[in-house]
Amino acid sequence: MSELPEKDGPRPLSEIASYHAHIYYDPAATRGEAEQLRGWIGERFSVTLGRWHDVKVGPHDRAMYQVAFAKEVFPELVPWLMLNHGRLSVLVHPNTTNPRRDHLADPIWIGPALSVHADKLPEDSELEQAPAPNTSPTLRP
Ligand code: ZN
Repeated sequence: MSELPEKDGPRPLSEIASYHAHIYYDPAATRGEAEQLRGWIGERFSVTLGRWHDVKVGPHDRAMYQVAFAKEVFPELVPWLMLNHGRLSVLVHPNTTNPRRDHLADPIWIGPALSVHADKLPEDSELEQAPAPNTSPTLRP
């Protein structure tokens, strides 16, 4: 009887440096909703709102903007997005050293899942710490 080797144990939470939420929208149909959601997020959460990508970028198969946030923000932001995403799809993924696994194997989808292109995602990268927030929240979520 021997113990399982360390490599078969669970992955520790310390692998996660930060999170992203990618907010997807259709520029012709739901950009207004994406703007409203972005405003609501900025009023309520200390996060980094990324720029608008009205055309597909990187591994993403639809227009989107990114919300980058620290681990401490997850327990309020993610349930809040579950209640408030409306018709939009949201991809929430951890940032570890394996972006491909983060986006494809380990994410949470809020709303309908969309395609994510594996070939645009490396399997090894530097850890991405949450950047300094660019919002100044004044409201409780
Ligand atoms: Zn991301």
